[in-house]
Amino acid sequence: MTLLLWLYGNTKMELKIVLSTLAVLIFLPAAAVVVVAASGVSLVADALAFVNPTTKMVDLFDPNGNKVASIELSTTWPTTGYVSDEFGTHESWRKALGLGVHSGIDISNSFDTPITTFMDGVVINNDSVDDSPCGKSVTIQHVHNITSLYCHLNNPAMLPIGSKVTPGDVIGYMGSTGTSTGSHLHFTTKVYGILVNPRIFMVGEPPAQ
Ligand SMILES: [Zn+2]
Repeated sequence: MTLLLWLYGNTKMELKIVLSTLAVLIFLPAAAVVVVAASGVSLVADALAFVNPTTKMVDLFDPNGNKVASIELSTTWPTTGYVSDEFGTHESWRKALGLGVHSGIDISNSFDTPITTFMDGVVINNDSVDDSPCGKSVTIQHVHNITSLYCHLNNPAMLPIGSKVTPGDVIGYMGSTGTSTGSHLHFTTKVYGILVNPRIFMVGEPPAQ
């Protein structure tokens, strides 16, 4: 009995060590991901694209830090309405829905408000199946390894892959497909596949109407 108690006691201690190690292993990556998403990615993104205070142009860099180009800011917001959520937020309602740090800008308006591209590009994806958090969506490839993604569309315009688009062309209509609580556009921009705050490319605010 004494031996059994001794064994039990030791096993319990071992279990405690194993469990606490496991807990660290399980929780560390989650904490690390949150930290990377909240600060690391934006630090990387800030090094890839930023507004030059002197020229008022967007300076673009490759991941090695070499300057690739300077481009004009865009005056064409992808849709009308008001910004209902900024890039990089992680509000409690977002956590409650199991969502991570906000990867784009949300612009809210009524269903079927037209959506356009924020700069010249080519349609590289036109997802008309509502089976992902992004819902129905359009992805556009721009110059200098910039891509933009337009989520939660009611109906994509069904532009064929390879279609050339310019600001003003309708690429889809606002909706609430995917993980969404109401009619809005989720607008994401990436440089070299890394999330960048869309505001870096944009002047002012989206027009109300
Ligand atoms: Zn969003």
